[in-house]
Amino acid sequence: MYISTRGNSPERSGKEVIALGMVPNGGLFVPKHIPEIDWRELETLNYPDLARSILKLYLPEFSDRTLDQAVNVYRSELFSSENPAPLVQVGNMGVLELWHGPTSAFKDMALQVLPHLLKESIQSIAQFNKVLILVATSGDTGKAALEGFRNVPGIEIAVFYPENGVSAVQERQMTTTEGENTYIIAVKGNFDECQSKVKEIFGSKEIKGDFLKGKYTFSSANSINWGRLLPQIVYYFWAYAQAVAKAQIKAGEFINVVVPTGNFGNILAAYYAKEMGLPIKELICASNQNNVLTEFFQTGVYDRQRPFYLTSSPSMDILISSNFERFLYEMSNRDEEKVKTWFGELQSKGKFGVDLQTLAKARDYVKAGWASEAEVKDMIQKVYTEQSYVLDPHTAVAVRVYQKYMECTGDSTYTIIASTASPFKFAGTVLQSIISEQITENEWENLAQLSALTGWTIPMGLQGLEKKTVRKVEKTTPSEIPHLLRQLFL
Ligand SMILES: *Cc1c(COP(=O)(O)O)cnc(C)c1O
Repeated sequence: MYISTRGNSPERSGKEVIALGMVPNGGLFVPKHIPEIDWRELETLNYPDLARSILKLYLPEFSDRTLDQAVNVYRSELFSSENPAPLVQVGNMGVLELWHGPTSAFKDMALQVLPHLLKESIQSIAQFNKVLILVATSGDTGKAALEGFRNVPGIEIAVFYPENGVSAVQERQMTTTEGENTYIIAVKGNFDECQSKVKEIFGSKEIKGDFLKGKYTFSSANSINWGRLLPQIVYYFWAYAQAVAKAQIKAGEFINVVVPTGNFGNILAAYYAKEMGLPIKELICASNQNNVLTEFFQTGVYDRQRPFYLTSSPSMDILISSNFERFLYEMSNRDEEKVKTWFGELQSKGKFGVDLQTLAKARDYVKAGWASEAEVKDMIQKVYTEQSYVLDPHTAVAVRVYQKYMECTGDSTYTIIASTASPFKFAGTVLQSIISEQITENEWENLAQLSALTGWTIPMGLQGLEKKTVRKVEKTTPSEIPHLLRQLFL
């Protein structure tokens, strides 16, 4: 069963929380108990079977048929490699490549699974309604969700992205999506504004009431939805098993995990893996110049009133990390009153501070750091020159923060870097970092050049994007989003 971080919901089943997306009047669903498992029993499983075991622990009421369909995505042609999440040794790091899915970002690992779970979930709460999925994206969730939900019967999906806040490839991936049930909306604003508006709609009785009359129920494909986080827990167990199989570590030995972080979803999945019994020593939270989380771990104050930077790692350009609420809920020893106060203050005053006990526990669990734009470019070049390995800018943030962590601590624990995107999604930045010369403004040429230079193949989903038909994209402002939704759907 699942409960709310703000104590404002009855206990709900997995089906209900996946269908609802978030707690209707604010707050996020978390598992009431975090199950422990013996990772040794999972070590010999293949990826789909491992995923099935972990999903089943949290979603016991789902039919075998649904769970099978859900995990079978990992053995389908949707994933370009036989191993959907290979661990590649790069120098002293284990790089966990999470971008072999159809849209070349780690979001596919969960968003290919979620539609299967949602189909069964919907029937439990809104049997006769259509479901309208609202997605705010900082670049990668949008395309991954559009692909996952494209032409799924009974479901329509609307994706909101910041007009100037995503990479050229990310934008073109979204605007060339097919499907009768997909809607794409460019918003004049940043990701935080998109996400806040979407959350506001989830919390608005009036808007929800109007849509209910039109036979629509809302749901979410953002990582506020538990159905997004759950499949992400799996690959940390998988990474561990690979490190053991490759003799990088002995079974039972502790590892560190570094995660390039935006909405705090991916690193939270690693936290759950740790709580379930996976031997993780340090969770290292890596941010770009939008370093609101690094500051929190230094000071205990979360302050979103600060400049918002557009960086070369756009999927981490976030100042309101939604899943941090789940993390602080656990760090405060599940004090729902405190969580309610903190996140109320974040909304009303733009900041909050936590008590010393909570901060101490948070620091104990997570080490945090950030990397500047110049450091990211240097890192891409250095790793390419020394290791012939091509990092995307998000992964480069993680590698740079790991390097700083090692300089400070001398910690030689085997470390896994979550690699969240293919470098080809950010070809211009990557190419420029490697060759340090002026490059063309034509991103499609940059893709080809990066491939020619490195010998790496352009992922299928990114090939020929420039020739595909671009569809109609709606344009709006954050405050006009509810109005536009009414126009489109009611
Ligand atoms: C979404 C995303 C992130 C941030 O992940 P969170 O779960 O939001 O912390 C990092 N890198 C890439 C490439 C992403 O698409």
